[in-house]
Amino acid sequence: MTPEINTEQKGHPKGIYLLFATEMWERFSYYGMRALFSLYMLNALLFDKSYSGQIYGSYTGLVYLTPLIGGYIADRYWGNRRSIIVGALVMAIGQFLLFLSGCFFETIGTATILMFSGLGFLILGNGFFKPNISSMVGQLYTAGDRRKDSAYTIFYMGVNTGSFIAPLICGFFGDTGHPADFRWGFLAACIGMLIGVTIFFIFKDKYLKTPNGDAIGIIPNNKDVNKNETIKSSENLSEEKKTSSVRNVIIWGTVWIILFYLLYFLLETDLIGSIIFSLTVAAPGYIISDPSLTKIERSRIWVIYIIAFFVIFFWAAFEQAGASLTYFAEEQTDRHIELFNRTIPTSYFQSVNAFSIIIFAPLFVMLWTKLNKRGKEPASPFKQSIGLFLLAAGYLVIAFGVKGLAPGVKVSMLWLISLYVIHTFGELCLSPIGLSMVNKLAPLRFASLLMAVWYLSTATANKFAGTLSGYYPQPIIELALVQSAEKDNSLTLLPKDFAESVTEKDGTAVIPFDKITFSKIEDKTLKSQIQNNLEKQQMENPKTFMGYRISNLYDFFMLFVFMAGAASVILFFLSKRLLKMMHGIK
Ligand code: GLN
Repeated sequence: MTPEINTEQKGHPKGIYLLFATEMWERFSYYGMRALFSLYMLNALLFDKSYSGQIYGSYTGLVYLTPLIGGYIADRYWGNRRSIIVGALVMAIGQFLLFLSGCFFETIGTATILMFSGLGFLILGNGFFKPNISSMVGQLYTAGDRRKDSAYTIFYMGVNTGSFIAPLICGFFGDTGHPADFRWGFLAACIGMLIGVTIFFIFKDKYLKTPNGDAIGIIPNNKDVNKNETIKSSENLSEEKKTSSVRNVIIWGTVWIILFYLLYFLLETDLIGSIIFSLTVAAPGYIISDPSLTKIERSRIWVIYIIAFFVIFFWAAFEQAGASLTYFAEEQTDRHIELFNRTIPTSYFQSVNAFSIIIFAPLFVMLWTKLNKRGKEPASPFKQSIGLFLLAAGYLVIAFGVKGLAPGVKVSMLWLISLYVIHTFGELCLSPIGLSMVNKLAPLRFASLLMAVWYLSTATANKFAGTLSGYYPQPIIELALVQSAEKDNSLTLLPKDFAESVTEKDGTAVIPFDKITFSKIEDKTLKSQIQNNLEKQQMENPKTFMGYRISNLYDFFMLFVFMAGAASVILFFLSKRLLKMMHGIK
């Protein structure tokens, strides 16, 4: 098959802006709820940190697992449009149940049941929504259209516009310091979802068309619209193929059960982790053994799988943003701005990524277009390898920032901001490009299901990210210097809580202990006492990850440099081979 080249067309079809708006509101809803969710569990339902952390990790993992169901149903029975509408409505019910949970937060039993039911609806609804909206973007273009990468980057701006405004709006209504107000944040998320689905419902028939005017995302029939291939539907399958279909179900079902057993019973992985990890292997195995696939199609699907595997390491390191990097922002970053005499709240750092995507995505579109005109645009696997490299680079920068730093001392927020901006560049090379690549490589009749496989790497990564963030070096007992007015202003080092309790007495003052006060201390004995004290605390709690010793922040950040760096280099060397396996698709 020779892909039809269509480079002449300028601008983008209107359908992309409809998908932009729908996805923007859905992500508004998702990220708005996500910004409040942990706080709600901690401050309204009074769960402890480790329990709420587990629920949070399982939720963000499962949300990206159910696209397997949604993708399968859409490709076989419902088509994208119906799946998107059903998914959005199911998620709106989920948000509404969270709103109700928030209304009953004082009756913890009822509130908890409502909360878990709400999460169930959100997890299921996302499965119908996410892979289907993502796979529709590419269907607006002909198979070989070079605008696909930029189309996905525009779509990705929709994702991030939603995720940027969500914490601000839902946080404004929900995160007021009064536990009774969380419900308003959840209600805002519910309304956002309803706005998205309404826009989609009204404009879908008008704008969701192929360049030839054929409707896209409708109930699948036997015609592969984009590629003019005839689908070998199950009715047309020969007896032999039907038998091999049944055989596949048995083989991959057994693989799934064995893997689950190994993970859950032998390796003692938690239940959700075991389900996610085992399905991440078994589901793709089942898809690629489908008897209707041709050799070329199978080879292209392998490319999706191989890259999705490397992408796990990207998201596992990237998703530290919500976990260990948030602890870092809270405990080790100087968030005070002298000029305005203000301290930036920790949660604001979460917006740096989404904001940078909105700013830089158009520049990346321009960059790819320019390189393309000169015939120098890198192919997808190379772009993804660059993405992983940039991820490693971001961690290298921050590792440099904390190297040799006395623990407990705070560093400038520029380190964290630099990391987030570099990670954004990496994300722009990897994530929208990945969606576009999956769309180009997947046979249309498996478009949404393979998009779901792509999101499986996020499911696995989100779960893995939680495990990795557990290696964050133990928080240090906070220290403070006490300046005694009586004894010639002499300084003593004390645990902060204790120091604060003695402040009021006899003119002693507590000096917040940070990098600056540390460098001002002249007393050498006191200085070395502080250093020793803090170093001892760290040395007492070293952790090892696969033989790698993590005794301080530098070691911790370098773990991600090695992980993402190694993935980047291996993918780079595999790229040429992968390109061949793509059979003419760039
Ligand atoms: N932030 C993006 C989104 O929410 C990417 C998610 C992912 O693939 N991990 O769509």
